[in-house]
Amino acid sequence: MKSLGNIRRAFAPWTDPSAKPFIAFKNVTKRFGDFTAVDDLSLNIYHREFFALLGASGCGKSTLLRMLAGFEQPTSGEIVLDGADMAGTPPYRRPVNMMFQSYALFPHMTVEKNIAFGLRQDGMSKDEMTDRVSQMLKLVKLEQFASRKPNQLSGGQRQRVALARSLAKRPKVLLLDEPLGALDKKLREETQFELMDLQQNLGLTFVVVTHDQEEAMTMADRIAVMSHGKVVQVATPAEIYEAPNSRFVADFIGDVNIFDGKVASSGNGTIEISIDSGFSVRVAAAETPSASSAVGFAIRPEKMRVGRTPPANASVNAARGELWDIAYLGDMTVFHVKLQSGKIVKASSLNAQRSVDDPFTYDQEVWVSFDENAGILLKD
Ligand code: ATP
Repeated sequence: MKSLGNIRRAFAPWTDPSAKPFIAFKNVTKRFGDFTAVDDLSLNIYHREFFALLGASGCGKSTLLRMLAGFEQPTSGEIVLDGADMAGTPPYRRPVNMMFQSYALFPHMTVEKNIAFGLRQDGMSKDEMTDRVSQMLKLVKLEQFASRKPNQLSGGQRQRVALARSLAKRPKVLLLDEPLGALDKKLREETQFELMDLQQNLGLTFVVVTHDQEEAMTMADRIAVMSHGKVVQVATPAEIYEAPNSRFVADFIGDVNIFDGKVASSGNGTIEISIDSGFSVRVAAAETPSASSAVGFAIRPEKMRVGRTPPANASVNAARGELWDIAYLGDMTVFHVKLQSGKIVKASSLNAQRSVDDPFTYDQEVWVSFDENAGILLKD
């Protein structure tokens, strides 16, 4: 499959076979009693990468991060950081710092003192510490709040103090566990871009845990989708969205229509699938699965067209149905179409033109159709 690459910056060390990973998890397992939280997991993260661990609650994301920070020890396997095996290295000796979800600021200390806390513990000289704290205050644009206490700050400002405190010791790797969880939507979006700028300007490696897929898609160079202690797919946001490697990932990221069917024929780079809902799909795929084998087909709503008349070739990649629901969202309209089999599919279209005349009405007969390269074959 053609790589979709990274559209944000020309940075893709994972595509270079000679590039050495900065962080390597090698067959790492973590058990709590007889429960396996992280299951024989191997993963490479590169220097200056913004890496996101994404997955449902309880899938093992935080445990993985805590093992990297040294707060938990793997039951088996190895964690290598900047060329050194981390087994037996306590958290304070690791070149990493962790920013917690709750920020864990000291309420009785000023912003300045909160930022200086770790430096003072390390025995840094007073002059150097003053310099470092003012650099950090400048970095997170909090110079005028230096002598406030955390309860005199907004949520976003508190988040920036926590960030400054975790960056003050100049770690090579910053671990962030749900860093924006406490912020409202607008502030979250602004802060996502601030974090990305900061990470790029400082040339650090960030590993962020989140269950918010949009956040991971916005910020990360690559995303690891986790499920039950395993990594299911590691890829760029665009690859994860456009070329999910399994039904689980397709379903987990974004909206998707998934159909079951059987292979009718294959060859010449395409596969024809007889979909159980009573229509046929031709999809681009390099594989040649045997005829009649059970497969799935996934297609995103924005890749489906809705029309009142059948498309030119309605025998493939098109299905007839009735308009079940229309949701006008301003920037786009989402159509729910009930196919003749009873299955309801979702199609969305951008409202690029300004119009208040909606040509569609409920219960109207419509056709959904799509291009050959719009959807993907699911083998599992
Ligand atoms: P969330 O998004 O809810 O924080 P997560 O993916 O970060 O979830 P983890 O905190 O890594 O999940 O937990 C993974 C699993 O391991 C969970 O089922 C959790 O209950 C279990 N677990 C974590 N820490 C411990 C512990 N100290 N003792 C026993 N079980 C634990």
